[in-house]
Amino acid sequence: MRMTNGLLLVFSGPSGVGKDTVLHELLHQNDSVRLSVSATTRSPRPGEIDGKDYFFVTREHFQEMIERGEMLEYAEYCGNYYGTPAVPVREWQEQGLDVILEIEVQGGAQIKRKHPDCVSVFLLPPSLEVLESRLRHRASDTEEVIQKRMESACGEILEAKHYDYLIVNDTVDHAVEQICSILCAEKLRFGRADADIERMLNYAETIT
Ligand code: 5GP
Repeated sequence: MRMTNGLLLVFSGPSGVGKDTVLHELLHQNDSVRLSVSATTRSPRPGEIDGKDYFFVTREHFQEMIERGEMLEYAEYCGNYYGTPAVPVREWQEQGLDVILEIEVQGGAQIKRKHPDCVSVFLLPPSLEVLESRLRHRASDTEEVIQKRMESACGEILEAKHYDYLIVNDTVDHAVEQICSILCAEKLRFGRADADIERMLNYAETIT
């Protein structure tokens, strides 16, 4: 029997909005969802593990991955390259697992062009004031750096209009619940019917 492919879900949002926390909880609650591990040329932060948080690679290695056609998408962000290795995503989808790409907006646009059937979700803060206070708590940056981060966060927020769904991260549980609802509804879309339903519809056609 043909297995229905899992969904490809693009998940974006400005820095400081809480994407990692929401996804961590979503994966904890849902064993049919996988999170793609990106490759990046940025250095690991304290506590980050190679192969789990990212594949930390050199610029040369990253370039080779692009040339070999191994990247589903890639983008330059704050002076570093980030990209999604294509093979694990395809294999998980073929196993019927839903795959989440936690990527910035340029990568999100590339995926939309290449895979119009993907589902895109943008995570918003409850307000810009809340986002600013989260960015202030995150690091002991100067006022100038905080303002720069806010500017770039607002630039990213403007891209939300290109996404299919907007979720406000008021509480983690609520945001997770809403992503689960989106996954559930998207699986019920007409074009995504599973093999049994497709057979029934085809059979119905033969007897009308
Ligand atoms: P960070 O360096 O804070 O981990 O990530 C910076 C930004 O890069 C975040 O917005 C994150 O979503 C994005 N990002 C992470 N992996 C990828 C990827 O594979 N492709 C793209 N386009 N963006 C990514």
